[in-house]
Amino acid sequence: MKIAVLSGKGGTGKTFVSVNLAAVAGDAMYVDCDVEEPNGHLFFKPGAVKTRQVAVEIPLVDSERCTGCRVCVDFCNYHALAWVGGGVKIFDEICHSCGGCIILCPEKALTGKEKVIGQVQRGKSEAVTVLSGMLNPGIPSGVPIIKELLKGTEEKERVFIDCPPGSACIVMETVAAADYCILVTEPTVFGVHNLNMVWELVTLLGKPCGVVINKFVETENPAEKYCAEKEIDVIGRIPFDAELGLLNSNALIAVREKAKYGRLFGDLLARITGEVWL
Ligand code: SF4
Ligand code: SF4
Repeated sequence: MKIAVLSGKGGTGKTFVSVNLAAVAGDAMYVDCDVEEPNGHLFFKPGAVKTRQVAVEIPLVDSERCTGCRVCVDFCNYHALAWVGGGVKIFDEICHSCGGCIILCPEKALTGKEKVIGQVQRGKSEAVTVLSGMLNPGIPSGVPIIKELLKGTEEKERVFIDCPPGSACIVMETVAAADYCILVTEPTVFGVHNLNMVWELVTLLGKPCGVVINKFVETENPAEKYCAEKEIDVIGRIPFDAELGLLNSNALIAVREKAKYGRLFGDLLARITGEVWL
């Protein structure tokens, strides 16, 4: 059971929900795919951490072989290649490592060279296996790191994937691996705007989903109204609670601190498990 936890923007409570669900699930895996700003490990503080570097291939040109046909320059959608001063210039910083230019070069003048783009870390926090991806600054895409992280998710029955915020292709890569998606939102107009983006994304990918409203207050609110209109299940309402906010801002895992939060997230987990197995 792979559960992806998404939100249309950062700061909505995506990491808070995924960390607490993984912690309450016990023998589970938490995977931090928010590779540009990973912070789940700050909550779990995992021990016995092992780090592995992630590298991609970027092209290297052999100017002796290059005939200047510019097939590679015309092909590169990312404009990472240019014909400058009578030779092929490669802009490593914007190359997406698709490998297309290397395959297409008729003279075999392009070969691949390794470039380290970040790392994955694996550790343990009580019964939870914690995986985190970290993208180096200035790297155009974290997708290779996410692919590396997701390779390690088959070994556990319960896997909670903390997705990158937004709805770009890096999020699609993460959601594609999930059996069920939790869309975390807030009961505000801004919350609904961002909820709509991720709902459209998971609908496009045909993934079952439910909404968790964070900082919920017992009044009519735009998030409830939106979910009713779209017929989306609200599977959890996490109350607006100063104590919860304080625990979270101190990077403490609420379900490990207070039994009442254990019950709150235990109920949410039971609901999700029911949804996935239905
Ligand atoms: S495709 Fe190959 S031969 Fe043609 S310009 Fe690029 S590197 Fe040179
Ligand atoms: S590997 Fe792909 S993205 Fe990078 S320069 Fe070649 S064609 Fe462009």
